[in-house]
Amino acid sequence: MEAKKVRSTYIEFFQSKQHQYVPSSPIVVKNDPTLMFTNAGMNQFKDFFLGNEVPKVKRVANSQKCLRVSGKHNDLEEVGVDTYHHTMFEMLGNWSFGDYFKKEAIEWAWELLTIVYELPKDRLYVSVFGGDEKDGLDKDMEAFDLWKQIVPEDRIIFGSKKDNFWEMGDTGPCGPCSEIHIDLRSEDERKLVNGFDLVNNDHPQVIEIWNLVFMQFNRLSDGSLKELPAKHVDTGMGFERLVRAIQQKSSNYDTDIFMPFINILEEKSNKKYGKDEKIDIAMRVIVDHIRAIAFTIADGQLPSNNKAGYVIRRILRRAVRYGYTFLGFQKPFMYELMPMIAENFGEIFPEVASQQDFIAKVIQEEEASFLRTLDNGLKILDQITEDLKQQGNSIIDGKTAFELYDTFGFPLDLTSLIARENGLSVDEVGFAAEMEVQKNRSRAAAEQETGDWTLVREEEGVAFVGYDELSCESQLIKFRKI
Ligand code: ATP
Ligand code: MG
Ligand code: MG
Ligand code: MG
Repeated sequence: MEAKKVRSTYIEFFQSKQHQYVPSSPIVVKNDPTLMFTNAGMNQFKDFFLGNEVPKVKRVANSQKCLRVSGKHNDLEEVGVDTYHHTMFEMLGNWSFGDYFKKEAIEWAWELLTIVYELPKDRLYVSVFGGDEKDGLDKDMEAFDLWKQIVPEDRIIFGSKKDNFWEMGDTGPCGPCSEIHIDLRSEDERKLVNGFDLVNNDHPQVIEIWNLVFMQFNRLSDGSLKELPAKHVDTGMGFERLVRAIQQKSSNYDTDIFMPFINILEEKSNKKYGKDEKIDIAMRVIVDHIRAIAFTIADGQLPSNNKAGYVIRRILRRAVRYGYTFLGFQKPFMYELMPMIAENFGEIFPEVASQQDFIAKVIQEEEASFLRTLDNGLKILDQITEDLKQQGNSIIDGKTAFELYDTFGFPLDLTSLIARENGLSVDEVGFAAEMEVQKNRSRAAAEQETGDWTLVREEEGVAFVGYDELSCESQLIKFRKI
């Protein structure tokens, strides 16, 4: 089954169970000081669960664009190294706002996976909340009894509070969850070790696909739990992981979601995917990151030097450096993936297709700007690495890391990543101290440019004229009237 069909089948399945389809909310969050990017399908429904708003319908389903690169969920370091954590991914979800509860959520999840998608039952494991003595929380026997009617008991795992209890924050709605995991190992491997023991243990072929959260309690400010009068269901399934399971691939990147992009990179770099781990990681990072960058720009977040904008700039520079070092791309190349983004995702997320030329231009300029200093920065970093090794030292000091940031545009996490590749680490505290010194200096300085972009209204016609490189801290990307 093709990825597109997997997605539409999910929506249609829940529509047949009287759910209303709701489009994804933007990946960039503008009105919530606690969150920069949408990191789960439930974000847009938060006010229903908090009781601040009354939903018009009680059952909805969707595919939500999510980004997990900051805050509570930060998967960035895993991305590309493993084959199932992405920066940007789609989370398929179905919700009940005070309507159905555990029984329906569990039965429908099983029906969809095993009957509609035909995933093999003997490769699926289920986890339920195993209680927490310290917190006075009981095992979720209600969920256990429901699962027991459809899954053999030896495929049901009692999980910890960390994996199987969801809380929105220190106070507010919370409750136990049940997760569904799939064992995608070969038959031979499966004979050696029981999959049961590998669930939630970071095995690359035994992965979590679906989380069913049962919002059952309200946590009060004194820490106590009160049963909610209306109980809710909030589920989230990783679309790319589901497609991998259905298409029987050993990596999310081998599915038809990512393969067209990898093929383009193979062609451009004249290198093959699947032969050399370093090249593979580079290709995975790039095809992952291009989606994160394109989707966030489409939702109005341009790369910049602060907050959400800097997150995007960091992701982009990370990808550019992987392309430069491992695939030999010395000129902007990521922007050329945009037509494929528009083609593959434009149907469900029209915003990436309708703005594809603009997004490509922004990416191309960002790439060009970083490529101007990347080579020199890498040379300096090479020299530092060599010197440190000779001295028997393994830590890049804060001042050097800051210079790489300030003069060459190397985000700290990029310097750390390159350091790690060479068996070194970075003095991050020292870096932060240098940053503070510079901030104080700029505060004291007279007039400062605040925004990163100057955009002339579109209807007047705009020309993209590139960066004004003042310093790494205050790069200006300018559009001027034509
Ligand atoms: P994991 O334990 O694999 O990190 P999680 O428990 O953090 O996943 P949830 O918060 O339960 O994930 O999110 C619901 C679903 O979203 C997961 O079951 C998984 O299928 C998917 N998912 C979570 N994080 C990612 C990611 N970084 N990339 C792709 N899919 C993800
Ligand atoms: Mg996680
Ligand atoms: Mg998990
Ligand atoms: Mg989970």
